[in-house]
Amino acid sequence: MEFRPQPTRNRNSQENQSLCNDGRCRTKKRRLAIITAVIIVALPLIFLYLYIDPASEEYGRWFPKCLVHTLTGLSCPSCGAQRAFHALLSGNPLEALRQNWFLLFSGLYLCGLGVSRLYWNKIPKVGQFFWGRTGGLIYVGVYIGWFIVRNILGV
Ligand SMILES: [Zn+2]
Repeated sequence: MEFRPQPTRNRNSQENQSLCNDGRCRTKKRRLAIITAVIIVALPLIFLYLYIDPASEEYGRWFPKCLVHTLTGLSCPSCGAQRAFHALLSGNPLEALRQNWFLLFSGLYLCGLGVSRLYWNKIPKVGQFFWGRTGGLIYVGVYIGWFIVRNILGV
């Protein structure tokens, strides 16, 4: 079963009427609420990771620790993400990659999701790949593979 997101713009005037209330569309309100929530959550985090190094001795203890690493000593696929985010915001993308190579794959996959969602009508096969079972299984496979490889190689 393939997941197909609903189109962002509805050109059918009858359906548009049912979405609007008092001249304001619910979809616009919902979109504005999502954007506002993302800004409220994202901006403080961006400033936090921009100015404070989560690996520093002084402030590092205040950042969340990985439960997998704490309990098992193994590095999970996400280990190093906070340090990588700090390095990326500090203008050091190579250091960010050194901290966690999987973030590059995740970032590219996230871009694929976004672009295929925006241009679903023009590139439906790409959208079906990223939003469907095949893309999801590939992502999970790479996630598990990275978990194994990074613990064998110690990266
Ligand atoms: Zn971890």
